[in-house]
Amino acid sequence: MGDRLVDTHGRVHRDLRISLTDRCSLRCTYCMPEQGNEWLARSSILSTDEIVEVAEAAAHLGIRTFRLTGGEPLLRRDIVDVVHRIARIEGPDGRVEVAMTTNGISLADKLPALIEAGLTRLNISIDTIDRQKFADLTRRDRFDDVLEGIAAAAASELRPLKLNAVAMRGVNDDELADLVQFAMDVGAQLRFIEQMPLDAGHTWDRTTMVTREEILEKLGERWQLDPVPGRGGAPAEKWRIDGGPHEVGVIASVTAPFCGACDRLRLTADGQFRNCLFSNAEYDLTGVLRDTAASVAPIERAAAIEALLRSCVHGKLPGHAINDPSFLQPARGMNAIGG
Ligand code: SAM
Ligand code: SF4
Repeated sequence: MGDRLVDTHGRVHRDLRISLTDRCSLRCTYCMPEQGNEWLARSSILSTDEIVEVAEAAAHLGIRTFRLTGGEPLLRRDIVDVVHRIARIEGPDGRVEVAMTTNGISLADKLPALIEAGLTRLNISIDTIDRQKFADLTRRDRFDDVLEGIAAAAASELRPLKLNAVAMRGVNDDELADLVQFAMDVGAQLRFIEQMPLDAGHTWDRTTMVTREEILEKLGERWQLDPVPGRGGAPAEKWRIDGGPHEVGVIASVTAPFCGACDRLRLTADGQFRNCLFSNAEYDLTGVLRDTAASVAPIERAAAIEALLRSCVHGKLPGHAINDPSFLQPARGMNAIGG
């Protein structure tokens, strides 16, 4: 068994988010530009064999959950195969878990095969339940496709089902409670995400962002909210709605960062390990996976992947610096890092 991935601040890493592509079927304003995105070269995107090889090495070091994301992970043609192969990996604590974050488009068609392949958890993003606002925000008229995806997930056995919404001033701050009600009606849990400075247009503004406090205040006008204890390393703080059983979550990366309990690492679609969404450091795997592929035995390559993962973990800072005046937004947008 390999040693666990413990950083210099004592945090044990158990979650790896794998971006399968930087392409997307939507163009959410807070994530991607409308046009002129600089796409990753297709040849740089990791193959499924490469992703599985990395996942095996990561699982050996104690990664238990692999979250597939992007861009839009369902755009990857071999998505079912990716899930199938990762879901069969055994780590020191047993079989790993495979989760996915998706915008829900084409989910209805693919979900049975994904569940059969071993998908165990699903987060679907929906920022508004107003058709016109959805089209404006995502710059695509795909609201019905997303609703279809949510309905399919609601009818499946995957639980807990989570819906993610980025809270935005002048966009959905008037429908926060309606979004929570929508989630409850389909048997899902809504999680609000504070908007983060990761948009391609660099339009994020701290002074106008919708904060955790404001979200709670608005929801408090409709329901009584009681904090749910036992958050652990989870990014979302949770509240019980009117005594339960429903809950709502808030991921307050900006105003209440949870870096002290962070157990997450990231792999970009073009083979870079990252230890934080907001860091500018990347640990390049492509040399290990490609330049030496022909000449190095698989066991040595696995050792090299593990060594790179360890240096990525070793380089992790105690927290992100969004709230520091010297903060520089990462060069990659959210779609290219993997949310
Ligand atoms: N396309 C999939 C989706 O939208 O669920 C997966 C990738 S997306 C980058 C993952 C999550 O990141 C989504 O829930 C999205 O709303 C969130 N996200 C993207 N840009 C963000 C930003 N600037 N601030 C906060 N959350 C953001
Ligand atoms: Fe696509 Fe998800 Fe980014 Fe929206 S948030 S543009 S759905 S990757």
